[in-house]
Amino acid sequence: MDLQIRGRTAIVCGASKGLGKACALSLAKEGVAVTIVARNAQVLEATAQEIRALTGTAVTAVACDITTEAGRAQVLSVTPRPDILVTNAGGPKTGDFRDWDRDTWLAAIDANMLTPIALIKATVDHMQQQRFGRIVNITSAAVKAPIDILGLSNGARSGLTGFVAGLARKTVRDNVTINNLLPGPFETDRLLETAAQWARNSGKSIDQVLADRRAANPAGRLGDPQEFGDACAFLCGANAGFITGQNLLLDGGLYPGTF
Ligand code: NAP
Repeated sequence: MDLQIRGRTAIVCGASKGLGKACALSLAKEGVAVTIVARNAQVLEATAQEIRALTGTAVTAVACDITTEAGRAQVLSVTPRPDILVTNAGGPKTGDFRDWDRDTWLAAIDANMLTPIALIKATVDHMQQQRFGRIVNITSAAVKAPIDILGLSNGARSGLTGFVAGLARKTVRDNVTINNLLPGPFETDRLLETAAQWARNSGKSIDQVLADRRAANPAGRLGDPQEFGDACAFLCGANAGFITGQNLLLDGGLYPGTF
């Protein structure tokens, strides 16, 4: 299926590893020139080279902290008018809410709510003017079903979800869609971090925690990041212009609700 986005440009945040990298790769395979963002410059450049080699598409690497104003300004100075925006940053820390102070909450809200909103604000007007834009926010299954060790994620991402639900209905008339992709358990470094916390809480080994998570998932496995990347690329396709304001769960059927 040709997604008809060859020659388009994209900013993909949090893209040196894991789900963001998979989104950048899937978009690059469709011929989209991607600007990828992460803090560690070495890892990011290696990823840029890997995507270039695999796809032959232009990849620009911008090493910065996307949760800071300076970082966002750096990315936007390199790619000021992207056709596609994928927002993502690391997930907040795990733990018990009794241990979190105001600064901990503000950091989570900054990374997982205010940063995507700032990036949308900086890019959406141009997308509307040109009558094409695709915005995908990587959020979490925690938005639909809270995860007990991830109270910061449950809270901060719900704020973004509510905001997007409103804005997405205002931009779609100009062929600018805004959707959220909600990962369940995918095999990434982040999953290992949360598995380590589950292991500490339960007294099990990390391997056992991961085996339990595979067994408990209706699919009998964890997600492959590339499955996530391809779903992201689909939402960015020219023919996905009637899908907006949605929260698409990719979790192997783990969430048990009918809807
Ligand atoms: P990951 O493997 O840890 O990758 C995170 C990526 O984001 C890395 O490239 C990292 O590079 C970059 N990053 C982190 N903080 C950043 C910042 N402040 N500025 C710029 N780049 C930053 O994580 P993942 O599994 O792909 O997860 C992506 C998102 O989905 C996270 O928000 C995570 O909480 C959420 N999620 C993941 C799962 C899962 O199973 N994997 C499930 C639910 C939700 P640097 O560290 O070099 O900056």
